[in-house]
Amino acid sequence: MSLNRRIFLRTTLATGALLAAPMVRAQGKPRVVVIGGGPGGATAARYLAKDSEGALDVTLIEANPVYTTCFFSNLYIGGLRDFESLQHGYGKIGAGVTVIHDMVTAVDRAARTVTLAGGQVLPYDRLVLSPGIDFKEGSVRGWSLDAAEIMPHAYKAGPQTQLLKAMVESMPQGGTFAMVAPPTPYRCPPGPYERVSMVAHVLKQTNPTAKILILDPKEKFSKQTLFEDGWGKYYNGMVEWISPELGGADVEVRPDTMEIVVEGAAQKVDVCNVIPGQVAGRIAALAGVTDETGWAPVHPQNMKSKLDENVYVLGDSSAQGDMPKSAFAANSQAKSASMAIRGELTGSKVFPAKYSNSCWSLLAPDDGIKLGASYEPTPEKIASVESFISATDEDAALRKATYEESLGWYAGITADVFG
Ligand SMILES: Cc1cc2nc3c(=O)[nH]c(=O)nc-3n(C[C@H](O)[C@H](O)[C@H](O)COP(=O)(O)OP(=O)(O)OC[C@H]3O[C@@H](n4cnc5c(N)ncnc54)[C@H](O)[C@@H]3O)c2cc1C
Repeated sequence: MSLNRRIFLRTTLATGALLAAPMVRAQGKPRVVVIGGGPGGATAARYLAKDSEGALDVTLIEANPVYTTCFFSNLYIGGLRDFESLQHGYGKIGAGVTVIHDMVTAVDRAARTVTLAGGQVLPYDRLVLSPGIDFKEGSVRGWSLDAAEIMPHAYKAGPQTQLLKAMVESMPQGGTFAMVAPPTPYRCPPGPYERVSMVAHVLKQTNPTAKILILDPKEKFSKQTLFEDGWGKYYNGMVEWISPELGGADVEVRPDTMEIVVEGAAQKVDVCNVIPGQVAGRIAALAGVTDETGWAPVHPQNMKSKLDENVYVLGDSSAQGDMPKSAFAANSQAKSASMAIRGELTGSKVFPAKYSNSCWSLLAPDDGIKLGASYEPTPEKIASVESFISATDEDAALRKATYEESLGWYAGITADVFG
């Protein structure tokens, strides 16, 4: 008996009636459409196809033919990796996944279809949304996406990352690099501060009298003690963090004149990296699965949308509780969601979800630090149950080992996501 037939019988026998298994259609396999080919979406598509052994029809829709990782993009800015090492295609994703490179422009949740920019309309039984982030309009006064060529965000990796790196490298001697840091919640909490470390690493060698200003609307930031310790150790005097009390929350930018205005006082800068406030990727809002926060609320046990039982939201777009918006988290969430979807559509066993996350950051070459936790679903949220963080007094050998561990993680996660 074929696997499909066995699964079909098991599902229908378990529910007690042939007609009561609406997803197992006589005319074909249950269809899962996944939007977004990053760590959330590509992992979900791969695991759905692999673990269902052909019982599901899995389609992954991703706008770009090549995915450039934000993770490790700061190391590229720091001159420690080349750009190509951040790029991954979809050729090895697995035979069971149909990949379509197009933009999803609409989701009709009543009809259970998605519409692509190219005109194609795809039906689904379950929809997985993992479209990452978009920027909140008006979050930084004076900045809009139109200004991103002058004041780059470099917070979606690709040409923006290359632009920021080129700007850092051509800064005039003794010039100023300003970063407008984002308010929470945002993707990769330590990301802006690792970026500062990598920019400082470049400037220390090529432009030692340059200055780095961080204008921050937050009272404190991820791994703060560790970063400040590292900046003192390696880049003494170069990095200045401006907290909200000192004006970090009252900032306007003027791309036309390359100025930042802090509490009304204008200052010329040479490079300005604006990382705006963030919301779920636009298609999640268009699908109507986000709430007034701009993020998509999900059930902690499986990442199912709280607003539609046929939709799952993964990764940065989701509002799930304590997990940070990271590639590690998106990959972990994708595995729980794909197990739950498979259970619903094929009757396979669903085990209780467990989630984990680690975030490595680099202070200087060979000096890596990390922070991480394991998580469990509670009725309210995904809750942190156990966490760890590097200590400031670690020796050089341990810091090097931590950095090397992060290289292993990058190789492992990209293989798990893209095949
Ligand atoms: C500087 C920086 C450093 C980072 N470092 C780390 C790190 O060290 N470790 C870590 O774990 N995380 C890190 N992150 C965070 C990590 O990159 C994100 O959390 C992760 O990419 C989120 O995965 P995702 O699947 O939710 O979204 P994404 O990776 O953003 O993927 C979304 C995909 O959906 C596609 N898409 C969106 N809308 C549509 C549509 N309508 N139609 C078709 N396709 C669409 C996009 O093209 C994109 O490829 C870092 C981020 C930054 C910015």
